[in-house]
Amino acid sequence: MSQILDAEVIVIGSGLGGLVTATQLAAKGASVIVLERYLIPGGSGGYFERNGYRFDVGASMIFGFGDRGTTNLLTRALAAVNMKMETIADPVQIHYHLPNKLEIEVHRDYEKFIKELGDRFPHEREGIRKFYDECWHIFNCLNAIELLSLEEWRYLMRVFFQNPLACLGLAAYLPQNAGDIAKKYIRDRELLQFIDMECYCWSVVPAERTPAINAGMVFSDRHYGGINYPKGGVGKIAEKLVEGLDKAGGEIRYGARVTQIITKAKSGRGAIGVKLANGDILYAKKVVSNATRWDTFGNLLKDEPLPNGERGWQDRYQKSPSFLSLHLGVAASAIPDAAACHHILLEDWDDMQKEQGTIFVSIPTLLDRSLAPEGHHIVHTFTPSWMSEWEGLSASEYEQKKIIAAEKLCDRLLVIFPKLEECLDYQEIGTPRSHRRFLGRADGTYGPIPAGKPWGLLGMPFNRTSIPDLYCVGDSTFPGQGLNAVAFSGFACGHLVASTLGLV
Ligand SMILES: Cc1cc2nc3c(=O)[nH]c(=O)nc-3n(C[C@H](O)[C@H](O)[C@H](O)COP(=O)(O)OP(=O)(O)OC[C@H]3O[C@@H](n4cnc5c(N)ncnc54)[C@H](O)[C@@H]3O)c2cc1C
Repeated sequence: MSQILDAEVIVIGSGLGGLVTATQLAAKGASVIVLERYLIPGGSGGYFERNGYRFDVGASMIFGFGDRGTTNLLTRALAAVNMKMETIADPVQIHYHLPNKLEIEVHRDYEKFIKELGDRFPHEREGIRKFYDECWHIFNCLNAIELLSLEEWRYLMRVFFQNPLACLGLAAYLPQNAGDIAKKYIRDRELLQFIDMECYCWSVVPAERTPAINAGMVFSDRHYGGINYPKGGVGKIAEKLVEGLDKAGGEIRYGARVTQIITKAKSGRGAIGVKLANGDILYAKKVVSNATRWDTFGNLLKDEPLPNGERGWQDRYQKSPSFLSLHLGVAASAIPDAAACHHILLEDWDDMQKEQGTIFVSIPTLLDRSLAPEGHHIVHTFTPSWMSEWEGLSASEYEQKKIIAAEKLCDRLLVIFPKLEECLDYQEIGTPRSHRRFLGRADGTYGPIPAGKPWGLLGMPFNRTSIPDLYCVGDSTFPGQGLNAVAFSGFACGHLVASTLGLV
């Protein structure tokens, strides 16, 4: 007996990956319901408000808001549902504060960045130019083609015939890693360590384990489309997508935690619907999970054997650490007006990948003052931390450990912002446990990292799963972490599902 369908497609989760999938499908005429366990949309790209401060939950350095090419996927995702965002251009992507007083600013202006890096490493000027220019080559191939599902053969054929050189170029880079390209041109150990950090700060692995395609995208788009902060905070992106989804006829339900994906293997079908924590059951032709693949297969399908494809991926990739995060409200005098919005601090190269080694800082109020009360800034600082550090503690031990870790983090930041502690007005401390609880992510992980040296991007799973009619989208799916990357995953997933529904 066939069930009455609640929608053609159910999307579990309203992270940016889930929302881009949903809006793409709604724009193509599919009926879509998004089920979000939390009270607002966005997941790691969401926000929360305290004492007049509006904090970004996670992401603050935003790619994908350019106005040309094909890689401006946030601009395009919004436009697909007739939405647009006002953004503020960031003149510097990151100000690095690294060992041996290595102070480098990555300017939006490519030539200025290359010159200043060359001034610091004059013997490597040529190698620097060649490395970053090769990244441009990868980017130019990507930016020449429409970015949709690599699992849909009609799209592959079309894009290949439209632009064979770009496709062949990309295919050649698919199995490569950024570190191997860097080592072709650069010998200086400190400069290679800098390039490791350039990769680590978004891939959480050094260059030799970072796919060349992702590096090409990040190292070039920051100078092409640029880094642009959404006016009103990062949470506005999800809010606008939800508004667009609604206008396109889709629906989102909050406080709707999916506990199980219902499958009907015996009838030859796979996913047929979902069960919610309140006992409700919803049926659809297709189910898309924006929960991580570990959560999708470990929790939502826990009664099913783990498919071989997923087992293989879980062997090749492991969960990255989560973060210890401080969301601070500070008097404006703590931050010089000329400071960059994003900083990275590391005192010893040996600590780059260690627990609470590298520190990340974002101060979005330098670009958008409306996020804090008059005369104040928000400072989001975070550092990688493993769940194992925070488990097995009593409530008081946990609180105590949080406070000590927060003090240590603030103390280290005094090198960049000497008045930070004395200007403190508000503090919220998050741990891997907070990331797991509020974002519903296994061990609070930031996403997948290769267990060994990967074959570039070839080991990452695409949207299709081995369970018929079940798809995955988001940062544990090709091409990985970051808002623009999960938007790519959303475009690909929306396109693939639409093609199976006969909508493209
Ligand atoms: C501290 C931090 C800083 C970051 N900084 C940047 C940055 O500067 N720039 C950048 O581009 N990226 C950054 N990122 C990464 C980026 O935020 C993520 O890669 C991206 O937002 C992940 O999107 P997603 O769609 O995969 O999933 P998520 O954001 O994880 O969203 C998944 C959604 O699904 C919901 N959900 C999960 N399970 C269920 C269920 N069972 N039922 C219903 N709903 C469910 C969750 O509540 C959540 O809303 C950062 C991440 C963190 C944590």
